[in-house]
Amino acid sequence: MITLKEALKLSKEELNKFKDELKTKIEARPELNAYIDVNNVGEGVPIAIKDNIQVKNWTVTSGSNILQGYIAPYNATVIEKMTDAGLSPFGRVNMDEFAMGSTTESSFYGKTQNPHNSDYVPGGSSGGSAAAVGAGLAIAALGSDTGGSIRQPAAYCGIVGMKPTYGRVSRYGLGAYASSLDQIGPMTQNVEDAAILYDIISGHDKKDSTSAQKNDKVSDKLDATRKLKVAILPSHVENASDDVKKAYTEAIEALKAQGHEIVERELMDAKFDISAYYITATAEAATNLARYDGIRYGNRVTGTNLEDTFTQTRSNGFGDEVKRRIMLGNFVLSSGYYEAYYVKAQKTRHMIKDQYDKIFADVDLILSPIAPGIAPKFGELENPMDMYLSDLYSISVNLAGLPAISLPINKGTNEMPVGLQLIAKAYNEQTLFDGALSLEKQVNYTN
Ligand code: GLN
Repeated sequence: MITLKEALKLSKEELNKFKDELKTKIEARPELNAYIDVNNVGEGVPIAIKDNIQVKNWTVTSGSNILQGYIAPYNATVIEKMTDAGLSPFGRVNMDEFAMGSTTESSFYGKTQNPHNSDYVPGGSSGGSAAAVGAGLAIAALGSDTGGSIRQPAAYCGIVGMKPTYGRVSRYGLGAYASSLDQIGPMTQNVEDAAILYDIISGHDKKDSTSAQKNDKVSDKLDATRKLKVAILPSHVENASDDVKKAYTEAIEALKAQGHEIVERELMDAKFDISAYYITATAEAATNLARYDGIRYGNRVTGTNLEDTFTQTRSNGFGDEVKRRIMLGNFVLSSGYYEAYYVKAQKTRHMIKDQYDKIFADVDLILSPIAPGIAPKFGELENPMDMYLSDLYSISVNLAGLPAISLPINKGTNEMPVGLQLIAKAYNEQTLFDGALSLEKQVNYTN
């Protein structure tokens, strides 16, 4: 598959021919279920779009039954920026319902397969985006990351996935899951393409009140020769599988070979991250999803009165995982438990941010696992608790609002890809991409 950088140089005729071929290739792999449908807007370079990002006049459903038939009335800011830069939204890709999940098994449209082996999940929630790029069915894709949903599926499918600093990319037109954590980001074949797509979609937007007043760009200044100080986390890595430990050791050697300085640091026990995240995310989700009542959006099941219409619409429209989270979120926000859960989670979130600030006082990057192992097999994370626990390496980055990039390092059990992530200080995307580029060069992974 050609890269984004190469595709940006194609003529209109070459692009149209490429898109026809791409469509045929996508249609030849229905079992993968990466794309929900293929639509094209404009004459630019085709980019796959996660089904929670609005493209004007396209159906947008966040992988949910409750939004079947809903047509986006306007473009998300990222889509406006993409089309201005000569890119075309090309196809809606699959995801866990409302971006809640780690496997893409909870989609209304059914499961997406891992392109490396159909017994394995592609990861989630941006599993359609990762599978499309990993299978050579997309040049690049947009995903969203609330607690790892770009970085983790990227690692499982052997591609690059980047979560920008909170506030770098406008959330206007993104279906909200947990508003204080959500960020849209690029999912690409390589680090340079991620930097190019990140540059295109980032920048201040007055339509998003949490958008940062920052417009600096990275891709023209990429420099893989900078020597950086990289922290490694020996005790954190203890909980990972042998595949991940091996990739970790290999990445450390690769960073040393590139002339970076390696120092050891500690993070607090990830069980605090998981509690703080699942309280914060479900509380915000319960609030955000209250708008899906059958009156204003999407699917309605008409009941005997208004109350009954709400109940039937939601009972019928939301899947089990979404219902579980709405209940959990309302519980932690209820007057009797607010102090005990929600307030404590916010204090823990501050502690998590403080520990990163301390590390970043004198290091440039942190090297961390992104998931505990290779992609799980279908059904392996059937118990919701096991699924939540598998997020131990990804969610603290969102709680602290930091930028991070996951990139493939090697292949592990059954030739499945193993990825790791680099994490940087807030707004230090340049250092993040520079470090990732040098690591990518040294490990020389091929899909
Ligand atoms: N797996 C996490 C969750 O289910 C993260 C999802 C995401 O980043 N959207 O909440």
